[in-house]
Amino acid sequence: MILSRIVAAILPASPAPLRTMKKLVISALCLCLAASLPVAAVDLHGSLTQGGMAWGQVAPGAVVSLDGETVKVGPDGHFVIGFAREAVASHTLTVTRAGKTESQTLTVAARDFDIERVNGLPPKTVTPPPEWAARRKTETARVARGRALNSDALDWLAGFVRPAEGRFSGFYGSQRILNGEPRSPHYGLDIAGPTGTPIVAPAGGVVTLAAPDFLLEGGIVIIDHGFGVTSTLFHMNTVDVKEGDRVEQGARIGTIGATGRASGPHVDWRINIGSLRLDPQLLLEKDDGKDKK
Ligand SMILES: [Zn+2]
Repeated sequence: MILSRIVAAILPASPAPLRTMKKLVISALCLCLAASLPVAAVDLHGSLTQGGMAWGQVAPGAVVSLDGETVKVGPDGHFVIGFAREAVASHTLTVTRAGKTESQTLTVAARDFDIERVNGLPPKTVTPPPEWAARRKTETARVARGRALNSDALDWLAGFVRPAEGRFSGFYGSQRILNGEPRSPHYGLDIAGPTGTPIVAPAGGVVTLAAPDFLLEGGIVIIDHGFGVTSTLFHMNTVDVKEGDRVEQGARIGTIGATGRASGPHVDWRINIGSLRLDPQLLLEKDDGKDKK
C-alpha cells in the first residue's frame, strides 16, 4: 500500500504503457550503471510525503546526503531519511562512492492537514507559575537527550505496530488557530482508550527516557530504534520500563493515562529522526484507526 502510494507520487498521471516504458528506461539505466559502477539511483521505500519516512540501502562505504546534509549510512549501507510537516516538494538525494556522485530528485507530496480556526475566545488569563520555566527547561533537555542517540541498531527497519488498542483521536499535523493566533501543530498520533490499557513498544529498541511526571507529557517513555529514529509516548498512567532497558516490539512498557496536559485518557505516540518530527500513522500499514478490540 505504501509502495503504491510512492509509485503514485512519482508517476502521478502516466498512462500504463508510459509507466512501463519509464520502468524499462529506469531498469536499463540501473543495469548500465551497475555494470560500470555500483552507484545508481537508490530504491527508496516508505512515504515520500510531508511527515513521511523513507529508507534505502547503498553499497557499504557510500556517502549519502539529502539536500546537502550528510545522512548516516550503516555498516551494511542502510540509511533512513524523513520529511518535515512543512517539507517543500523537491529534494535532492546524492550518493557518492569511489569518487563518483549520483543525484536523484525526490518529489515529496504535500498533504492537507486539519486546520481548525476558533475565534471569539476570551483572552487567556492563566499565567504559568514561574517555577515551571526551570522545570520545563530540564525536561526538554532530557527529551532532546533521549532522541540524541544515533546507533547502528536496525529496529526501525523491522516495521512498527500501534502502541495501544483504541480509537485514533488526534492526528499528526493538525493545528488550531485561536483568535487568529496559530498554535504549534500536533505532532503525534493520539490513541484513546481507558486508563490502564496496556501500551507496547511500537518497535524494538533501547529505552532512553522513562519518567512518570513531566509537566506537559505526564508519564513519558522514549525508545531509540537506531539511526536516530525514536518513538515517544506521552500521558502514560504507569511507566513499566526504565532507562537502559532493551524492549522488543510488542512488549508492554506501561499503560494509558491522562497525565500531564491531557483532556482524557490516551497515548500520544510520536516518531522522530533526531529532532525531525514524522507522522507515526504513515508507518502503520492497513490500519483504519478504529478500535481494534
Ligand atoms: Zn496528542
